[in-house]
Amino acid sequence: MIEKKTIQDKMYGDIQTKNLFDTAHQYGKEYVASVMNRNVFPTEEALQNLSQFDEELPITDTNGTEVLKQLNKYGSQATVATLGGRYFGFVCGSSVPIGLAAKSLATFWDQSPTMNVLSPIGAKLESVVENWLKNLFNLPASTVAGFVSGTSMATFCGLAAARYRLLSNQNWNINENGFYNSPKVRVITGKQAHSTVLKAISLLGFGKQNIEWVDIDEQGRIHANEIPKLDNSSLLILQAGNVNTGSFDDFESICTKAQKAGAWVHIDGAFGLWAGAVNKLKHLTKGIEKANSWSVDGHKTLNTPYDSGVILCKDQEAITSALHMSGSYIITNTEKRDGMFYTPEMSRRARVVEFWAILKYLGKSGIDEMIYNMHARAVQFAESLKNVKGFTVLNDVVFNQVLVQCETDKLTTKAMERIQELRDCWAGGSVWKGRKVIRVSVCSWATTEKDVEISVDSFKRALQEITNEITL
Ligand SMILES: *Cc1c(COP(=O)(O)O)cnc(C)c1O
Repeated sequence: MIEKKTIQDKMYGDIQTKNLFDTAHQYGKEYVASVMNRNVFPTEEALQNLSQFDEELPITDTNGTEVLKQLNKYGSQATVATLGGRYFGFVCGSSVPIGLAAKSLATFWDQSPTMNVLSPIGAKLESVVENWLKNLFNLPASTVAGFVSGTSMATFCGLAAARYRLLSNQNWNINENGFYNSPKVRVITGKQAHSTVLKAISLLGFGKQNIEWVDIDEQGRIHANEIPKLDNSSLLILQAGNVNTGSFDDFESICTKAQKAGAWVHIDGAFGLWAGAVNKLKHLTKGIEKANSWSVDGHKTLNTPYDSGVILCKDQEAITSALHMSGSYIITNTEKRDGMFYTPEMSRRARVVEFWAILKYLGKSGIDEMIYNMHARAVQFAESLKNVKGFTVLNDVVFNQVLVQCETDKLTTKAMERIQELRDCWAGGSVWKGRKVIRVSVCSWATTEKDVEISVDSFKRALQEITNEITL
C-alpha cells in the first residue's frame, strides 16, 4: 500500500534536500549582481507581466521550486532598483551587502527578540546596538532603544513616552485614566514637520488642530525665537533632516531653553541623525543630546535592509510605562533585556541582526566614510545641475537632499516624468514654497561619481526632449 505523502512530509523533504534554499540563494545572488546596472524602474513589459500573479488560490499544493521560479521570473524584474546607486526617490537607502547576508542568516534563525528568554541572541544584539548608537550619536547614558519597523513607529513611541511623562508631571496617569478630563499637553512643532509626525500626533489623541505651529525659515528650519514659551506640559518636536531640503533645526539653543522649562523635546532624525556620526557633518546635530527622545531609521542613511527604525529615549521609565504590557505567562528578567518593553509590538523579527552586522562591518570610520560620500555626491549633483541651463537648485545642500526646479511648474513636472520614463535614474517630486520641485535624495552607499554624471545627463536629456516637444 502506498501511503499518501502528507504536506508535513513535503516540508520535511524541503529541509532535507535544501533545494529551495539553494535556489533562493542562487536567484538572490544573480539579482544583486544585476540590479546595480539595471534600469532603475521596471520596464513596461515587466509591469505587464505582474498579471502572472492574478490567479485564484490554488486548490492543491504547488511545488516549491515552481513557487520560487515564478517569484524570480516575474518578481525580480518588477522591483525598483533602490539597492543601486541611481535611485534618488523619497529618502530610501540601499542595503550594505553584509546586511543582506546577515539578514538571510537571521531569516533561517527566525527569532523574535520579544523577551530574552525567547531569543538570547536577539536580546544580546539589541543591548549591544543600543550602546553603540548611544555612543555614535553622543546621547545621555540613560538612553534606551526600541527596535521598530521605521521612523513612523519610532516617532509614535517617542511621543507616547512624552505623553506619559508630561501628564505624569501633572499627576495624571494616561494609561489608567485616558485623555477624558485630563490636564492638557501642549504640542508644538514647525510648519515643515514630517507627515508621519502628524500621524503620530493624531494616533495618540493629541489632535492636529491643537498643534501650536511655529514658522520656518527659507531652508525649512524652525524659527527658534518664534517658539512659544514652553513649560512642563509642552512637547516640542524638532527635525534633524528636513525631508525636502535636508536642513537641521538649531538644537543647541532650542533644547537648552526647553530643558530649563521642563518641556519634552522629540527629534525626528529619520535620515539626518546620522550626520552626527560623521566628523565633517556633526556640527549639524550639535545639541541633540539635550533632547528627550529621538527617532531614526536604519533603512535610510545607514542602508540596513528595510523594516528597521529605532526609538531612542533617555527616560526609560516613561517609554516602558507607555509601551509596557504584562500577562501571567510573561517571564521577565530585569538583568537581561526584554525588547518588548521598548516597542509597541510583542512579536517581531530580530531586525537588529543586520543592524549589528552593518555597524560591526563598517566600524566608526566606515560609517563616517559611507555617509560622507552621500553628502559629497549630493553636492556633486547640485553643482553639476547648476551648470545646466533650465535647472535651478533651491536649497543649501547641507546633507544629502537636493531640490531642483525648472522655469515653470509645468516644465518641472514634465521633466520629472521624463526622467522617470528614461529609467537611468529615479527622482520624485515634492512641493516647496508652493511650487513643484524635483527632489533628489542621495541615500545609497552605492552611488559613485559616475552614477551622478549619468543621472545629470539623464536630467539634461529629459529637459531637452520635453522642451523640443513643447516648441514643436
Ligand atoms: C522617512 C521619514 C519618516 C518616516 O520614516 P519611515 O521609516 O518611512 O516610517 C519620518 N520623518 C522623516 C524626516 C523622514 O524622512
